[in-house]
Amino acid sequence: MGDSLAAEPSADPALLSRSPEDLERLSAEDFLVWAVEEFGAKLCVTCSWQKQSSVLVHMLASLGLEPAIVELDTHLFFRESYDTRDRLIEKYDLTLVQPQIPSIAEQHKAEGPNLWESDPDRCCHIRKVEPLVEALEPFDAWISGIRRDQSPSRATIGKAQWSDRYHLWKLHPLADWDEKRVWTYITSNDIPYNPLHDVGYRSIGCIPCTRPIRNHEEERAGRWAGSDKLECGLHLDTIDKE
Ligand code: SF4
Repeated sequence: MGDSLAAEPSADPALLSRSPEDLERLSAEDFLVWAVEEFGAKLCVTCSWQKQSSVLVHMLASLGLEPAIVELDTHLFFRESYDTRDRLIEKYDLTLVQPQIPSIAEQHKAEGPNLWESDPDRCCHIRKVEPLVEALEPFDAWISGIRRDQSPSRATIGKAQWSDRYHLWKLHPLADWDEKRVWTYITSNDIPYNPLHDVGYRSIGCIPCTRPIRNHEEERAGRWAGSDKLECGLHLDTIDKE
């Protein structure tokens, strides 16, 4: 692990062992190897059991890398997402870090029924952002599977970006992968994946806020469809908000 990151993570890219520009040129595999060498036990990866989770779980296992895997279970995932999680756990012998999230009943009581309809930003804040902030507290770096071609708002993400909000480095090893490459990797390596992707769900989140999409729609068009909400808020400090 880099000496400069042994205590508190620093926002100064000069203290990383490789520059962000250099990191942009690495393959996803080499990037993950660098990340584990750089951050050691202070590195985690989040999984939401979409296709990028399948890629990252397999890639890390094939490289013999074992960063902590954080699952942000909102209690509102599709059955297929939970089944995918269980298949990946079984195949790759995963142990998950699972932050505490209020039950749906607790949320109904505190905030009113179906908060995802009346105030989805608040619902995402309670069920995703707050638990993630707490879950990331022990870590200096967080690997996420987001990709530049998923949506215009993600088009400018870097492979390594400092996050003031989480006070750590956000790492995006698949930033320069397109959707086709994700599927080629999954099929050629026979990796378990979420079967909802086969029936029109190109992006998958919570049941109330996800619908299948048509061919001409962009990949994340089925998330919070019919509203101007584009993101759950987890990545808002490192993506383009326009
Ligand atoms: Fe709530 Fe929908 Fe956000 Fe899930 S995606 S946390 S249901 S608003």
